[in-house]
Amino acid sequence: MFTEVTGILSDLNRVLLDAPAIQARVAAMAGAIARDFAGRQLTVIIIMDGALFFVADLLRGIDLPMRIVSMSASSYHGATKTSGVVKLPWPANLDLRGQHVLLLDDILDTGLTLGAVQDRLMAEGTASLKTAVLLKKRREQARVVAVDYVGFEIEDEFVVGYGMDYQGRFRNLPCIGTLQL
Ligand code: 5GP
Ligand code: MG
Repeated sequence: MFTEVTGILSDLNRVLLDAPAIQARVAAMAGAIARDFAGRQLTVIIIMDGALFFVADLLRGIDLPMRIVSMSASSYHGATKTSGVVKLPWPANLDLRGQHVLLLDDILDTGLTLGAVQDRLMAEGTASLKTAVLLKKRREQARVVAVDYVGFEIEDEFVVGYGMDYQGRFRNLPCIGTLQL
């Protein structure tokens, strides 16, 4: 007997943002960032893994010289609620002095992750720092952080797709939605 395997799309409760809406918004963000950083060389810091698809689409739309550094930071650890403790392993030999840094993450939720990374980046002597997130949740942040570019504001619910996971799954959905948990 074979068990029928259906697509992961059917595990979604609701689609919040479909693929064309995401693509259009990310292209517009790329245009705004390219204009703001015109004439500069960027150092892009990406927080993996959730930002994977966002940065892949965004950065291909920015025609400026850049180097890309990825790091992992997390406060979720496989659950649907933040643990409140941010793990932030720092890449070795990362010299950011005098660099124009663009920090990218998938979601601004409690603000703890981005706040911790921003603190560390400022301490590294960057010339300038701008932050872009694809999603920002409408909720009170445990830590208020400044973000310069926001793709979409969403309600305070747990979402998956377009790089974002639940226990390692659903990253490959082209849309963003909520799960039937
Ligand atoms: P914060 O430190 O702002 O609470 O957490 C931000 C990180 O938690 C995001 O970068 C993301 O990795 C994860 N996160 C927050 N909300 C969600 C969500 O709704 N879905 C998923 N898959 N990850 C989330
Ligand atoms: Mg993340």
